[in-house]
Formats: sequence, C-alpha cells, structure tokens
Amino acid sequence: MNMATTKSYPQKLVLGSGNFPALHRFSSALLPCAVALSLLFLGLLLSASPSTDKAAAAEPLKPIPDRLVVLTFDDGNKTDIEVVAPLLKKYGFGATFFITEGLGADKDKKTFLTWEEVQQLDKLGFEIGNHTRRHLDASKQPRDELDADLAYIEEQCEKLGIARPVSFCYPGYRHSAQAVEVLKKRTYRFARRGNAPEIPQNREGGRGLAYDPAVDHPLLIPSTGAAGPKFTHDDLVWAVDQARAGKICVLTFHGVPARLHPWVTLVPEEFERYLMYLKQQNCKVIALRDLGQYVDPTKAGGDPYDGINSRLKSKSASK
Ligand SMILES: [Zn+2]
Repeated sequence: MNMATTKSYPQKLVLGSGNFPALHRFSSALLPCAVALSLLFLGLLLSASPSTDKAAAAEPLKPIPDRLVVLTFDDGNKTDIEVVAPLLKKYGFGATFFITEGLGADKDKKTFLTWEEVQQLDKLGFEIGNHTRRHLDASKQPRDELDADLAYIEEQCEKLGIARPVSFCYPGYRHSAQAVEVLKKRTYRFARRGNAPEIPQNREGGRGLAYDPAVDHPLLIPSTGAAGPKFTHDDLVWAVDQARAGKICVLTFHGVPARLHPWVTLVPEEFERYLMYLKQQNCKVIALRDLGQYVDPTKAGGDPYDGINSRLKSKSASK
C-alpha cells in the first residue's frame, strides 16, 4: 500500500575503452565503428533498466470502480493506533491518517498519537497525511505561515523515515483559493475538505457529497459522509451508494472514540459495523493517495473552484 517508489537509475557508465577492453584490439580505422557500437550498447543498457518513476508515469489510469471508498481520520487521535489500525488490518482496508500538533496534540500524549506511533502507522502501510503543525484556519493564514506549518509536518515525517505526505486535510474544513495554491506549490496531490459551501457543514457529522473527479478539483475533495452523533448507519449506506458511475465515497472520521471532541466521536462497536458493511458490499477501501491509480491530479486545470461554483449555481437555479 505504501506507494513511495525507490528510484533505480542505471549505473553510470563512462564511455571509453576502459569499459570495453576488447576495443583495444581494434585498429584505429575501426575505432569510429567501435564507438558507435558502444553507444548502441549503452543505449540498450539504459532502455533495459528504466527508472521506476518512468514506469509509474507510463502506467495507465484504471477505470473508477463502483463502491470505491476512501477512509480518512483527522487529528491523530490515540485511538487511531489503539482501535482503528487493528480493525482496518482485520478487514484489509487502507486509510489516511491526518496528523497535526495543534489542538493540544503536541503535549497531550494520552489523547493524541506520539510521533513514534505515527511512524508505526506508516510502517503498517497506512498513509500519513498533513493536517498542519498548528491546526489553524488555512483559509485565513498568510501564505508563508501555512507554508511553514505544512513544511514542519513534512520535516517531522522525514526525520522518522515516514513517506513524504502527498495528501492534505483542511483544519476545521476551511479552504480557500490561496490555500489551494500553497498546496499545489508544495506538490500536494489530493486534499480533503468537508462539504461546505455546497452543503452547510454539520458540526456533529452527516451526509455530504460524493467526490466526482469530473467536477471536483483534487485539492478540494468533498467528504461524502462525516462520522459523529448525527451520522447514522443509514447515512453510511447512503454514502456508499453514492460511489458509482465514476463517483467516489470519501468518509471522514475523527477518534474512535474522539475523547476530547464528543461532537465528532464514534464508538468502536459502531465503527466495526461500518467496516463489516463495507466488506459485505465488496467495497474497495483505500487511502486518499491511492486515488492516484484512478485520477491524475496533475491534469487538473482551470479555476479549482469551478466545480464548487457550478454546483452552487445549479442549486440556486433549482430553488
Ligand atoms: Zn482537524
């Protein structure tokens, strides 16, 4: 599940007779021909061992299957390692964990993950995403501050050998065109928001919007469902049902349970019922970064807010 690639470039060759001792036997008249042959040989060597990056780039995108579900967990709750990860392993599901040091997470290590635990999640094959250093409103932060808060999480990951984050989640669901620009510059591929402005955000969970790659910018992916007291099993069934005809179900969770934030909490028994339902429905359950198999985020052009604006327009036209 870890999509980090190891580069395997061909060994550097220096052209010269030292690399090809047989060339010594050639007369000087034959030398240009020998050089041509050695160039051909070098060309064959290079083409025989392409870099994995090139191979990945050449990989065609897969068609989006029905019942494709992305699981995301915000804030780095301690229960991510205690409850969520073992259950996900039991069902063979992928997921993204969005890490921050805000919300008191830098000090309260009873409620939130330590960096060593984040490292364990990465080693287990889960994706570690960036939720910024301080969990501030990214739509209001000056560009440089947001950039520095992103860089901090990336540096912590680098120190611990955790794959560099390529996915992001907006703290408090607050996004802006400027934040999208900052993310793009830092080469983020996918970013998840809530469901506002198209649907008013319910703080206690609820139904949202399916991610439609034909409409939504990859750095403004909506939540199809957010767990919390207002999100029921019926809502989960509804959210999974949205994942068809090219649309993807993206689910947002906080702690299971979220000890400090009861408005987004979910009990472990109910969470496992969700996972059982996903299994029964033969859903393909992946991390946000794994969307790269189906969607090429580098192809997104135009105004990132076009999709949101067109939904808002059709909503007001139907009133
Ligand atoms: Zn958060």
